[in-house]
Parts: sequence; C-alpha cells; structure tokens
Amino acid sequence: MGLLSKGSPLNWEETKKYADHVRKHGIVQFLNIYNKVKERQKDVLLWGDEVEYMLIEMDEKNGKVRLVLNGGEVLETLQDKGEKTNPNHPTLWRPEYGSYMIEGTPGQPYGGTMSEFNTVEDNMGKRRREASSVLNKNETLATITSFPRLGCPGFTQPEYKPTPVEKGVSKSLFFPDEAINRHPRFSTLTRNIRHRRGEKVVINVPIFKDKCTPSPFVEKFPEDDGEAARAALPDHIYMDAMGFGMGNCCLQVTFQACSIEEARYLYDQLATFCPIMMALSAASPFYRGYVSDIDCRWGVISASVDDRTGEERGLEPLKTNKFRILKSRYDSIDSYLSSCGDRYNDIDLTIDEEINKQLLDAGIDKLLAQHIAHLFIRDPLSLFEEKIYLDDENESDHFENLQSTNWQTMRFKPPPPNSDIGWRVEFRPMEVQLTDFENSAFVVFIVLLTRVILSYKLDFLIPLSKVDENMKVAQKRNAVQEGMFYFRKDIYKGERMRVRFQCFETCEGDNEYTLMSIDTIINGKEGIFQGLIPILNCYLENMEVDVDTRCTILNYLKLIKRRASGELMTMAKWMREFVDKHPQYKQDSVITDRINYDLLRKCDSITNGEERCPELIASFTHAAKHPRKTDY
Ligand code: GLU
Ligand code: MG
Repeated sequence: MGLLSKGSPLNWEETKKYADHVRKHGIVQFLNIYNKVKERQKDVLLWGDEVEYMLIEMDEKNGKVRLVLNGGEVLETLQDKGEKTNPNHPTLWRPEYGSYMIEGTPGQPYGGTMSEFNTVEDNMGKRRREASSVLNKNETLATITSFPRLGCPGFTQPEYKPTPVEKGVSKSLFFPDEAINRHPRFSTLTRNIRHRRGEKVVINVPIFKDKCTPSPFVEKFPEDDGEAARAALPDHIYMDAMGFGMGNCCLQVTFQACSIEEARYLYDQLATFCPIMMALSAASPFYRGYVSDIDCRWGVISASVDDRTGEERGLEPLKTNKFRILKSRYDSIDSYLSSCGDRYNDIDLTIDEEINKQLLDAGIDKLLAQHIAHLFIRDPLSLFEEKIYLDDENESDHFENLQSTNWQTMRFKPPPPNSDIGWRVEFRPMEVQLTDFENSAFVVFIVLLTRVILSYKLDFLIPLSKVDENMKVAQKRNAVQEGMFYFRKDIYKGERMRVRFQCFETCEGDNEYTLMSIDTIINGKEGIFQGLIPILNCYLENMEVDVDTRCTILNYLKLIKRRASGELMTMAKWMREFVDKHPQYKQDSVITDRINYDLLRKCDSITNGEERCPELIASFTHAAKHPRKTDY
C-alpha cells in the first residue's frame, strides 16, 4: 500500500504545518525525476502482479473463523527466508493495512515473451505454498476480497475489543486498533484521516433486503456517543473505520512501458477497462456480518479513507480549506493523460493553480501538469519527523507521499530516482479471486489486452464521465449480468480519425460509444462490437506461442469468457448462493459465525484444490497436462 519509512510519525496538527513544504518539495522531486528520465526508451514491456492475502484461523470445534493478527511475524519470517537470504528469490512479501494481511509479488518482473504467461500461476502457487508453510496449525491463507464478518464481535485472533474513545486510533465501534498493521504508517494514516476530516469516516452500504430482513433496517449501537446514530443511514450497513476498506484484498497489475508516451497511452486505455474488470472480478458481497446489495469493495474503501472536511465535500461554504473536492482520495481517475485523451476529459478537475503553473513553467505539458496538480490538492497524511528535510535530487519521498495516498483506479508511476526502472502504470480495480488459476486468468487477460492495444494501436476511449458512470454500475449486485456499460463501438476508427485530424477533431458525439452488456464487451455481438476475446484470439493466432503456453492462455480466456456470459458465476454471486442455501440462514441478511465458517471452509478447499467448484471454475484447466493436487 505504499512507502514505509522508519521513525517518529507526526500527528495531524504537526503534519498540517508541513503540508505546503511536502507539496513544494514533492513537485521539485517530480521535476528532477522527469527531467532525468523523460527521454528514456525501454524496449521491453515488463509487468508484475500483486496479490493481497488474509491470514485466517479455522476453529472447527467452535465453528468459527477468525482473522489472525500475526501478519507482522509471518512477513518477517517470509522475508528472512526469502529475499534476505537470496536476492533472486522468486517471491517478494510486503505488509498491508490489516495486521492479518500480507501482500505477495513475483521476485522479478515478468518480461515480454509469451512463454512467461505460463509461469504466472506457478509463481502464485509458490507464494501460496511458501506463506502457508510458515503458518500455525489451523491457519490458512485466504484470497478473499472482504472478510464477511469483519468488525463483528470476536472476529480476530487474539480477540480484542474496539476502542471507541478519542484515544483510539480509528475510534471505531467495531474494528479494534490491533487489527491495524503495527507499522506506525498505518495507524498514523488512520488517525490523521479522522482528524483531518474532523470526525470518523462514514461508510454506508445498502443492505440486501431479503424476505425476513427488518424493514426499515435500523441498528442500535450501545457504545455510540451519538456519532454513529447521526451517520448511519436506515437500510444500510454502517461502518466507521479505515479498516473496513483498506482491510480488503485486491489483485493489481503493474506494467512498465517503453517510454513515457506509451505509459500515458496505456494509462488512458486501461482506465476504460477498470469498471469492466471490476464487475467481472466482483467478490465482496458481505460487510460486517450482513449481506449487502453491492458486489464490489470499491465504494467501501473510497469512503473508508475519505479525509475531506465538510467544506471540501460542499456541505459548508469554503472558509478554512482551499478547494471544493469532488471525490475521495481512493476513487476513479479524473483526467486522461495522453494527447488523444484530452478531448474526452469532461470531468471537473480541481487543481492547485500554483502547482500547475510551476509545472507548466518547468516545461511540463498541460495534461501531465494538471494530473499532478490534481493529485497535489491533497494534504500529506503521514509524515515522519526524520523525513521532513530531504535531498530533492536523490529522494522522492515527498512526491511519493502524495502519489501513494491518491489511491485511484489507475496509477501513473514515474521511475524512482537513480534506478533503472522505467515509466509504469498500475491497474488497480480488480478484486482478488479464490484460486491461483482465476487470479492468473485475470492477470493474463489484462496483460494480453495491453499487448493487443499496443500492437494494433486500439482506441477504447470514451468521455471520462462515462467511465465514472460505469464505475457506479459495476459495483451493483450482479452487474455482470444486468449492468449496461458505456463502451466504444469502433476501436479502430479512432486511430484513423486521429491520423486524419491530427487530434484536433472535436468529439464526434454520442455515437462513438453505446451501452453494452459485459457479455457483449467480452464476447462480442454481431453488429455491435466484435468482443475482446475474439480480438485476443486473433492476436494469439498470429503469435508464435508454444503449445503448452497457448493451452494455458486459452484456458484463462475461457474462464473470462464464461464469467462474462454468465455460464460461470462471479465469486460474489457464488458466495450469495452459498449463504442463501445454508441451513442456518434465516433470509434475514445475517451471516452468522457458523455460516461464515462453512463458507470460508468451502473457499479454502476450493483454493487448495481439495474440492472442485464447477459453478465458479469449470473443469477446463490444463490439469491433464500438469497433474497435481490443484485440478480445479
Ligand atoms: N487493498 C486495497 C484494495 O483492495 C489496495 C491497497 C494497495 O494500494 O495496495 O484496493
Ligand atoms: Mg497492496
């Protein structure tokens, strides 16, 4: 989740005093990097995935499953055995927000050859085995996006009570501070977000109204000092801490582009796929022990780190704050970055004018300048006393401070100073899946898509406000089947038009894009859109790929294809059906300890290949080629 520095964190009052300092030097650091590496051309496309995991304990005797708060120790053991022993170790482990979470990536990035697609799943398997091997008996590594009973009494091991008074970090009625990673960065972020905002964060998720769900659904919170009663909406699941959002897991992919231009082009193109891939990967229907009416985590995390004051949110006139800010720090992107994206930039962009001018004066073009000037409307949230005065030529912590706490659907990443890393973009919307097979399928699909976009110079851009509308639809229950998404019709035409009109052409109007189902977008529909899978298949036919790799890739594409057509369920849908059929479920939207235990037990057997799940993952994998336990 970003940079970790050692030292003494400053509280919000102190941090605030240095906000302008951090921004000023952050911009200087960005300019120094930019000027050194703007011309850099790399010829290979490197990429890598990030998987976030939860550590859970299965208590069979009591029929309970709990999150184990020993991520810190597990991480240390994994690093000691791995990267610290061997710099070429095949896996890398990093901390995440929850003290029950860890994050794993491949040790080295993947390169540009097709055969590497055949190693992704193996590497994910290595990660899973490696981490599993250091866990205690009855503990297991789960790749679930949100823990169904997160924030319910006794959901952690060891058990802790929340601290809903001022001295608590998040002051939550439900989420104990011990469930936050013990590195001070995470508690500082949590506390400073709350102090900056002037109150606890407010998360309201619509409840799924089942036959016996009370209507209206209104909860009472005995330990509430009044804040929860004011904030909780009727018919919603109310949550009040950063952990309810950042304590969720996801699947991300980072690409290194050949040049800054290519990175900007990819950033824009991939932005249009964020809602589509999020809906396809939907895996988080349950919150704080209740069945919700959404399938994805996005809005929950967004609200969980929303540090905007009332003024910034437009509830009061601006007096002490500088800007009216339309979105949380965790949200969808607000502007395209490539020159051809400019004409689709139709979202109101709040920027820091002074910073924008400073960037323009330094020779940065309008689109990149406004992108940075928009990220920099935010205040730094965590600052370490030892890290205030830096060497702007050789360090980038102040830039990274703001960059890494703008958690958007896409991230445009300049190279770190003095490294041989190139310009990168990160694709961040996807929810994590149960099995390494599914996670590999999503990763390989999106990487292949970038290859096709770059090779055929495709254009998927639509007005950015339409991508935002898609983001809203994507989170709804069963969006894959029922949602309609704005999507570009002629993805080749844009290129021809651009060449002809040299980018000066104004928007051609509504007929460039239309509403499509995910099935149409992925699988195609005669007369409307040819479909991404057919395009990828066509690309694959023209590539030299060894038989084995081709077979692996085709299996991945089949999974995506069938998830899109509805032949296979999303994880969210599958979890809903599991709960619905559970003998203890009373049609009242409540996930009891027992239901949660049985659900996660089932998830664990599917993850470890002890059980098949044909509704979620058909049996078309290459198990026959690679006989092993995980024959899904
Ligand atoms: N866990 C967060 C999510 O689900 C992402 C944190 C990160 O940026 O690594 O989106
Ligand atoms: Mg992460």
